[in-house]
Amino acid sequence: MINVPELFSSYVFNDGEMRKRLSEEDYLSFKKTVSAGLPLDKELASAVADAMKNWAIEKGATHFTHWFQPMTGITAEKHDSFISPVSDGKVIMNFSGKELIKGEGDASSFPNGGLRSTFEARGYTVWDPTSFAFVKDGALCIPTAFCAYSGQVLDKKTPLLRSSKVISQQAKRLLAALGKHTDSVTVTVGPEQEYFLIDKDMYLKRKDLIFTGRTLFGANPPKGQEMDDHYYGNIRPRVLAFMEDLDKELWKFGILAKTRHNEVAPAQHELAPIYTVINVAADQNQLTMEMMKKIAEQHNLICLLNEKPFAGVNGSGKHDNWSLSTSDGENLLNPGKNPQDNLPFLLILTAVIAGVDRHQDLLRLSVASAGNDHRLGASEAPPAIVSMYLGDELMAVMEAISTDTQYVRAKSKKMNMADGLIPEFKKDTTDRNRTSPFAFTGNKFEFRMPGSEFNISCPNVMINTAVAEALDEFATALENSEDKEKTAKELIKNTYNAHKRIIFNGNGYSEEWKEEAKKRGLLNIDNTPEALLRYPDKKNVELLGKYGIFTEEEIHARMEILLENYCKTLNIEARTMIEMTNKEILPSCMEYMRMLSDEISKKASICIPALTETDLLKKISVLVDKAYDTVKILELATDRVGANKNAHTASVNYRTAIFPTMNELRKYCDELEKIVGKKYWPFPTYSDLLFSV
Ligand code: ADP
Ligand code: MG
Repeated sequence: MINVPELFSSYVFNDGEMRKRLSEEDYLSFKKTVSAGLPLDKELASAVADAMKNWAIEKGATHFTHWFQPMTGITAEKHDSFISPVSDGKVIMNFSGKELIKGEGDASSFPNGGLRSTFEARGYTVWDPTSFAFVKDGALCIPTAFCAYSGQVLDKKTPLLRSSKVISQQAKRLLAALGKHTDSVTVTVGPEQEYFLIDKDMYLKRKDLIFTGRTLFGANPPKGQEMDDHYYGNIRPRVLAFMEDLDKELWKFGILAKTRHNEVAPAQHELAPIYTVINVAADQNQLTMEMMKKIAEQHNLICLLNEKPFAGVNGSGKHDNWSLSTSDGENLLNPGKNPQDNLPFLLILTAVIAGVDRHQDLLRLSVASAGNDHRLGASEAPPAIVSMYLGDELMAVMEAISTDTQYVRAKSKKMNMADGLIPEFKKDTTDRNRTSPFAFTGNKFEFRMPGSEFNISCPNVMINTAVAEALDEFATALENSEDKEKTAKELIKNTYNAHKRIIFNGNGYSEEWKEEAKKRGLLNIDNTPEALLRYPDKKNVELLGKYGIFTEEEIHARMEILLENYCKTLNIEARTMIEMTNKEILPSCMEYMRMLSDEISKKASICIPALTETDLLKKISVLVDKAYDTVKILELATDRVGANKNAHTASVNYRTAIFPTMNELRKYCDELEKIVGKKYWPFPTYSDLLFSV
């Protein structure tokens, strides 16, 4: 039996550990310095470093590392041992305050969008004391931010910290203007993580999975997800064993792993943690993804985090549950018993509505990637159009306010399911809407567009900043007003009326919604280059500049990095397809065709007609020719586009020239897969991959 409370957080230098190992004076002054966001003085930093080191050594650590989140999408670490030589030829274990606070590395070796050239390479990692240090792989990992020598940000954590501070300040101002004082406002986030698990032996037989994390070929299996029998279904023993080990490992890292279940597609699953402070949630989600991959391999499984590993079944997302909380733990998005009279709630709600409507483009581009392009708008995930869902109850409240009418509360109905045989319960006043990209779900918003592989920082930076801008405006108006209640009501009404086009409570998957959204002037951006090219628009430079999130130069650098990443992903995918077609698919088809022609000749020699063989041979022959012609076109196009050094032009060319050719090649090869004999087909099929674990 495992003792979960004892296990929990045992790898983390958490608050309790810190209190135990620091003098009371040091502990209190550390807490005070961190909550005020002030720099640590040298002596205090040394005391903390020493305590951390002693704790880490007890946990088996020999090294320390600054753990950071460069623009690669994954985390980075460089281990340094604690050893320090002493006079008798021996060593002692040493870790200084300076080493804790700041590290130095080569910034030019990480994606930097031209901000760093190889000759001016220095970069710094700087400790984020608001996120806890932990021990992993024999090293004390210290969560850090990463910036260039010249101060430009090169990572995902810094803008997240900046935007959290900005929204916190503006929310505090707004509350203060309403006479509601709180020490701080924090952003809380709970990311639900979807993933696929497949057998490792099968994975190793597919170059596409190895090189790109998704299948580039594969005909639909006879059974997909149409029976709806996987969602919440019984968890098979091998998967359950993985989930149990994963939960245990995550708990050791202090991650509040809470819910685990099967998802909609076969072989798809989900893990949801209990929400926490945003930067901790972001760090922990990175760690969760790393552990998922690692622990899967211990079970001879592979965890696929790509947004669309398999065509024809659901892709994987990461629902970003977002809210604001006061220092007393009051959830500011809790509507309370009488939402219509809850002015702080209504103001924050309308600030979110205004922020999302004004900055649809930033939200859309914050979730843009080659992988997510296959998911968004594919009638399973939210559409590529950003819109919001409020639910019936809040809609009625907002409509009443906007039309100066009285809101009449819908009574929550009691449900009596089996004539008293099972307990009665109260029905929610609002149903769920699974198709909405940005849905109010009772006491939080759920942004459903981020892809499963994403670092949640960027989407949250955009939400925080967009909402902060509206909160800022509201706070200013209220601070300057004599009659706060009247002003608040006007702000709510006017803002709602100005931005209500963003609200859509219907079916987001429908064709009618696309038409309707167009009429409302909402953006519908279905691909990554188009989304990213909006990053440096004047509006965005102004917003992100005004709140100190990014300079214009940093925005350009980020866009460059993301566009390059898109190009590289498509380039690798195209080259993998070419290799698999030339070296595996075509030779296998030829083998099958040879067998068929031998059969035809044999039968001809004894005067028996070979109708089936001849028909099959003809069909395969036609498809093989088409596949071969298409692969040649793809080769030429990839060479040509790949040579283009300009990321803007190249990304658009990848989208318009390479992407459709890849789809065409896939179509012919998938047709071939359906008719070529199983034993001739060179790699595991969807049936094998999706139903093997
Ligand atoms: P569902 O999305 O199915 O309604 P839950 O209500 O369990 O599921 O919430 C899903 C996620 O939302 C969980 O990670 C949960 O911790 C998180 N969540 C709940 N309340 C908040 C909040 N106030 N702020 C941020 N995330 C929250
Ligand atoms: Mg959810």
